[in-house]
Amino acid sequence: MLLVMAARIRVLAVLLVVLLGATSCSSDTIDDFVDAIDPDETIFDDGDETEASDDEASDADYCPVNPDDASCDDWFDSLSDAEFCRVLPDDEFCEDVDEVEADEADSAVQPETDDTDPPEDNDDGSEDLQVVTGPGSIATAGIDPTAERDDDLCLPDDEAEGDETGVEFNLAYQVVDGELGAICFGSPNTVVEGAWKVLADLVPPGQLRDLAVFAGFSTTETDGVTLAFVQRLDDEGTQFLMAVNLAETEADPAEATLTMAHEFTHVFTALPSEIDRLVDPEDCDTFDNGEGCYRDESIINEWFETFWQRAPGDPTVESEGEQRCDLDSGFFGSYAASTPEEDFAEAFSAYVLRVEPRTDGQQARLDWIDRQAGLREYRDRAVELGYGPQEHNFDRCG
Ligand SMILES: [Zn+2]
Repeated sequence: MLLVMAARIRVLAVLLVVLLGATSCSSDTIDDFVDAIDPDETIFDDGDETEASDDEASDADYCPVNPDDASCDDWFDSLSDAEFCRVLPDDEFCEDVDEVEADEADSAVQPETDDTDPPEDNDDGSEDLQVVTGPGSIATAGIDPTAERDDDLCLPDDEAEGDETGVEFNLAYQVVDGELGAICFGSPNTVVEGAWKVLADLVPPGQLRDLAVFAGFSTTETDGVTLAFVQRLDDEGTQFLMAVNLAETEADPAEATLTMAHEFTHVFTALPSEIDRLVDPEDCDTFDNGEGCYRDESIINEWFETFWQRAPGDPTVESEGEQRCDLDSGFFGSYAASTPEEDFAEAFSAYVLRVEPRTDGQQARLDWIDRQAGLREYRDRAVELGYGPQEHNFDRCG
């Protein structure tokens, strides 16, 4: 238990820290990312004007991607053998089904995505990024120790001294136009620079502009270890700090790589284009996580509608995660069951680093991510640059 806690806990910091002088974000970056996440490529192509108006329709949407949910048993029972195998071609029962037939059935359930048209994002923002070209044609953001931000953003003033969570910052770099820039607190550190290198390999360069600060911390926590966290630095959610645990990052590079993919989801799913922080919770008709209301076609709302509609308990209450984990083997570990955001983050890291799924529910999560061109780009970069496949070290749910 302790090992699990120590190995898997990550923190999504929702602490709001408003810094004077925070600049507005490059809207190009946000727009590019939204363009890359093509809403037409989301999982169900049945028109969003029909909002699952009856149980049958919602079962047909929900159950194929949550095959382990007991509430779907009746719906599966209502299908003919052929229909069942069209929905779950990988099920043991369907092993005898002709392979060609299964392939056809698969594409009928999962709308075709446009594989021939990789996203061409960041066209108008990348040319002033200093990029280095890795193997193949992958461009990654570099490190320029002389680059400084005009707005002087660094650690929030009261954070450099440490806080009650046991996390203490040791050093921080400014991130300048998507590059790791000058050190702004403490001394340069090769562990943090190594973590940045991994992050820059995995993340398309233009999207790194949403980070303002990249830091290293140590911790005196006793009930689990925070491997890394992301913190919002302005009201709007246009500037973020990412920080990595120095000791843990150095001790386990494979885990640290998963962590980089995991953490960056807490940036790109928290941009103003994804979540509206001005809506009252009672006026939110999607998923409100306590910080804001996710937009209709946001990644987390679509994820929530697909995988969390029938999850027991309050999805914003992390402590109910153990119960959700016990009931659903689709989660990549108990930490994933704590909130929809952590579920997506864990599944995304497994997807990017090609962790082998162990259940149909895990496979469904990876398939969902794979249908989003903007998300698939991360894994393509990882493959091209030699990351993964990584071992499945997630603890078991279900
Ligand atoms: Zn997280």
